[in-house]
Amino acid sequence: MKILVLNAGSSSQKSCLYDIPDDRLPDHPPKPIWEGLIDWTHQAGVAEVKVEAAETLLKQQVPFSSRIPVIEQLLATLWNGSTQVIADRAEIHVVGHRVVHGGRKYHESTPITPEVKEAIEQFIELAPVHNPAHLEGINAIEHILGSVLQVAVFDTAFHAQMPDAASIYPGTYEWVEKGIRRYGFHGTSHQYCAERTAELLGENLNDLKLITCHLGNGASLAAICNGRSIDTTMGFTPLDGLMMGSRSGSVDPSILIHLIRHEGYDADRLDHLLNSASGLLGISGVSNDLRQVMSAIDAGNPRAKLALDLYIHRLRSCMGSMLASLGRLDALIFTAGIGENASNIRAAACEAFEFLGLKLDAEKNAGRPRDQIISTSDSKVKVLVIHTQEDWAIARDCWKLSRKG
Ligand code: ADP
Repeated sequence: MKILVLNAGSSSQKSCLYDIPDDRLPDHPPKPIWEGLIDWTHQAGVAEVKVEAAETLLKQQVPFSSRIPVIEQLLATLWNGSTQVIADRAEIHVVGHRVVHGGRKYHESTPITPEVKEAIEQFIELAPVHNPAHLEGINAIEHILGSVLQVAVFDTAFHAQMPDAASIYPGTYEWVEKGIRRYGFHGTSHQYCAERTAELLGENLNDLKLITCHLGNGASLAAICNGRSIDTTMGFTPLDGLMMGSRSGSVDPSILIHLIRHEGYDADRLDHLLNSASGLLGISGVSNDLRQVMSAIDAGNPRAKLALDLYIHRLRSCMGSMLASLGRLDALIFTAGIGENASNIRAAACEAFEFLGLKLDAEKNAGRPRDQIISTSDSKVKVLVIHTQEDWAIARDCWKLSRKG
């Protein structure tokens, strides 16, 4: 079964094609047989299209005024030219889309109908950068592949059944009625990591209490009980919670009132400040990339050191909050760019929870762990590093849904 996955963002669109047997899902994520990337920011009005397939790497610069023809050109490399991997577009059985915001209505992956498209459109207000890009992808597929089954895999879905106490902000009740509440994001990654953890521990997910730490440029934690998200750090938008690459995470809302009243800020300027100029970048003044912040620390930059100290403090305090929601902890999981690669961040985060009987194996942590337990054998809390595979998780859901239909 050929499954196409589209992961459309504001500045890029990643796509891949999986070829998996019709009758069973493989135990381990297979490598996609085709991978495509469009970088919309390559140059003003010019996108860079990269395709890797059939042992070929194709790179093209494509001038564009609208995005859909570029997406169509990218997809045509599946059945044309040196990167061809299928004889005909009709071989594509199902297409999965990562969709950032689906509100609370969708708590699992859902076949795309006009009603689902309408919901994605409704949530543009809350995901102004991502949801329009998802709709573009869906429309491009409709145009090229006609009535093929398309599936929306929502970042919010895994958190959609969080208890009210965790998801309602203590503003006015009007907020609840208007849908101003905590939605949570990175759901596909948190869920995938929880399932993979249960597999690696040889335990039933329904018996486990877990904290998953998705630490990339964007970062969030989830408290997972019986395979369900019961609390998470991102909120109404992906700005809440942890300190991130260029996002502030949670700050006292009065700071914003102060900036409006006394420094002439308006909504756009605040948006830029909090989403693009804060976090590791804002404090260090060096970069939103942790590797560069660490190099600056090595070179003696005190602001870079301060940024790292804040990052760790925020991470530990949010972990504490997830722990309180769970009441017990069986495993702590690190994933995404920082979670998978930065052994110093993992060590610093774990150190604060040694009182639980958590013991990190320093040697395993310092290696290059991937889908591996990095706590000692007598640790009361297991610690794991999981390589998150959101595209594969999307493809898996598509496979399951297409067999149901
Ligand atoms: P995104 O949210 O954009 O998908 P990623 O999951 O790729 O982000 O994570 C990006 C972050 O991971 C960056 O801060 C980067 O510095 C960090 N990172 C990647 N590799 C390493 C590494 N080897 N050591 C430390 N940090 C790393």
